[in-house]
Amino acid sequence: MSLARRDILMGAAALATASSSRAVGQDRRVGFAIVGLGGYGLGVIIPQFANCRHSRLTALVSGDPAKARTVAARYGVPERSIYSYETFDRIRDNPDVDVVYVVLPNAMHAEYVVRAAKARKHVLCEKPMAVSAAECETMIAACKAAGRKLMIGYRCHFEPFNLEAMRLARSGAAGRSRYVVSEHGFVQHDPSKWRLKTALSGGGSLMDMGIYSLQAARYMSGEEPVAVTARASTDRSDPRFHEVEDMMQWTLDFPSGAIGQCMSMYSAAQNHILLMGDKGRIELEPATRYDGNHMWIGKDGREQEIVAPPPGPGKTMFAGQLDHMAQCVLTGSEPIVSGEEGLRDMRIIDAIYRSAREGRTVGL
Ligand code: NAD
Repeated sequence: MSLARRDILMGAAALATASSSRAVGQDRRVGFAIVGLGGYGLGVIIPQFANCRHSRLTALVSGDPAKARTVAARYGVPERSIYSYETFDRIRDNPDVDVVYVVLPNAMHAEYVVRAAKARKHVLCEKPMAVSAAECETMIAACKAAGRKLMIGYRCHFEPFNLEAMRLARSGAAGRSRYVVSEHGFVQHDPSKWRLKTALSGGGSLMDMGIYSLQAARYMSGEEPVAVTARASTDRSDPRFHEVEDMMQWTLDFPSGAIGQCMSMYSAAQNHILLMGDKGRIELEPATRYDGNHMWIGKDGREQEIVAPPPGPGKTMFAGQLDHMAQCVLTGSEPIVSGEEGLRDMRIIDAIYRSAREGRTVGL
């Protein structure tokens, strides 16, 4: 695939808003507060502001003042724009902050999204949106009441291979969708991590990696499931899995008769998406990593690798995601991955857990 064509694909999400953003806010960069300076917030997201065109880092929220001061000094955030979890609500009075990006453990998402909305800030919230559909509904209502945008950190909607896979699937490159396989996992080593504690994670591999499998089954098939049948397999004698599930496997029934076969796990590594259609197949492995993804199209007995260009400045999925949120703020448009999209996934996740618990198919 040519670089020019890829650029068009990568820009597709933002194109709808680009022309109006030039008129509204060409010179303005939208200010972001990052809540949670952990592996993802500090290690992955904060350095990406350097690749952004419309977004800038303007505030930090952390439980560790010394760490926050060090990060603030490194990234040019003024000391007055450092908040603790206790003083967070004062962010309302900070005109440099337009968007609050919640990068905390899953069970804290709902509280900080609602507090951010009450502080009259737009919100970007990491996946999974929350730990139940009921929480998602509360978060959506809070942002609506405040008249603020809510976007979920589904980075694959800004990742070149996944965008191209979606486009190819929609264009009929594999024919009529019949079967989607989507598997995601990695090995958890440390039993003390919050991801293995229900009170903070809301669940095990399904909440963390399974949401990639679920998202892919939905965006590759282009359909919404009508029923789910799930089962979990967990060695409860393993100290890592005293609270949360290790492996979850589930089948999605789609209205066309297509089937989604998905799984997530914390005891082995996997990262794979495969769409089988009546004319061919689209396969990604690895599929949803930060980099190094690969994709093939299989048709008429031949496989063709789809090659993406190396990411350049402003072309990473993370910067694309931040700038998309910024453009939504500048132009008043809706995020392509909204709170409603997060809620759709969480309703299915609730049904997956119920199906596994009750040993039966659950209608959606
Ligand atoms: P992490 O453990 O590395 O960081 C969590 C942060 O939250 C830390 O700064 C920690 O100090 C803070 N925190 C505040 N209260 C806490 C508490 N009671 N217990 C534990 N930590 C607390 O986690 P992470 O990997 O950065 O994940 C944070 C969120 O980001 C999660 O929702 C996760 O699903 C999401 N995430 C998304 C991606 C992605 O690719 N989109 C990747 C990694 C993580």
